Amino acid sequence: MVARYTISMQIFDNVLLSDFSTMRLGGPAAHLCEVHTIFELQEAMAWATARKLDMIVIGGGSNIVWQDSGFPGLVVVNHIEGYDVFEEDDTTVYITVGAGENWDSVVERTVEAGLTGIEALSLIPGTAGATPVQNVGAYGEEVSQTISVVQALDRSNGLMVTLPAGDLGFSYRSSIFKTGPQRGRYIITSVTFRLTRGNPSAPYYGALQSYFTEHGLTDITPAVMRDAVIAIRSSKLPDPALVANNGSFFANPIVPLGVLTQIQADFTDGPVPNWPVDNGHTKIPAAWLLEHAGFKNYKDPETGMATWPAQPLVMVNESAASTAQLLAFKAKLVDGVRAKFGITLEQEPELLP
Ligand SMILES: Cc1cc2nc3c(=O)[nH]c(=O)nc-3n(C[C@H](O)[C@H](O)[C@H](O)COP(=O)(O)OP(=O)(O)OC[C@H]3O[C@@H](n4cnc5c(N)ncnc54)[C@H](O)[C@@H]3O)c2cc1C
Repeated sequence: MVARYTISMQIFDNVLLSDFSTMRLGGPAAHLCEVHTIFELQEAMAWATARKLDMIVIGGGSNIVWQDSGFPGLVVVNHIEGYDVFEEDDTTVYITVGAGENWDSVVERTVEAGLTGIEALSLIPGTAGATPVQNVGAYGEEVSQTISVVQALDRSNGLMVTLPAGDLGFSYRSSIFKTGPQRGRYIITSVTFRLTRGNPSAPYYGALQSYFTEHGLTDITPAVMRDAVIAIRSSKLPDPALVANNGSFFANPIVPLGVLTQIQADFTDGPVPNWPVDNGHTKIPAAWLLEHAGFKNYKDPETGMATWPAQPLVMVNESAASTAQLLAFKAKLVDGVRAKFGITLEQEPELLP
């Protein structure tokens, strides 16, 4: 008997993936479709399985660098919507959001409802369903602090599963969805957040506290926090709709304290910024390392790439024609920082496939 599949959405062939990454680089996907429901997602998976094709699910493409060779399988763009509220009691509210919802719109809705928990994650591009993948974080908040459960399609058996936050291996910019043996196994269909009524509590993240002080703000509601984050981010980061970029291109390295001591001994201009992680380790801002390795506002005509003037951690594509050029530029930065500080920076966006 020949398997037959009724596909309710269109599957396109030979689609340029540069249109599905905010870095705007990359070759073609053999096939691509957009799904709006779990049923469509299951259909897409069955379509790819029947043809023995690999499959990658993406959201807004804001954390993806596609290879020039493209992808020989099926790329699925997730548009699954939904926003359901469950009020547990006077203080705790659970919201379950469809994985394809625009993340910042979700944050805006929760802030308008007077809820606290994700307001510092305002203006991060992409979809809600991608936030658990790298445990999205900014200004002292990470989604792992508020995620209750994640609903997902398990590709190993085609079943829907509910994964409690404790099983998701969350760490700094990582989870089981990004690294380790479970990578690629689950397709996230919705995420449930546990938020609280009322205001975010002090102490606030340094840059936010400075902003509040500067603007005479003392009553810190979720809306005040969101406005501050938007103001700070807008002054530092390029808008991906206007300038091709993936946000921070490198994670902040976590190094043994001895490495910090060594760098500090060589750097006499002042204290080297760092945030202690545990007794033996500290996190050094990758932006500081890049700046002091000579990559502040650095333009590279050879590759058409540059670092963003207000934030060297952001690599921008000014006129690069290929991912090979982006990778050559990245290698220059990584080699420069390693030569100066002996630290190897790790790339944050995923190079796919
Ligand atoms: C200007 C700018 C600023 C940024 N600032 C921050 C920041 O402050 N903090 C931060 O953490 N990140 C930041 N980012 C990175 C990025 O926005 C986030 O990682 C975001 O969550 C990616 O969402 P996306 O929908 O675009 O995911 P995509 O880029 O489409 O996908 C990212 C990864 O998640 C996987 N994925 C996507 N959807 C699903 C799903 N439903 N199920 C399973 N896997 C899935 C993809 O396969 C891929 O591996 C920034 C990016 C830009 C361009």
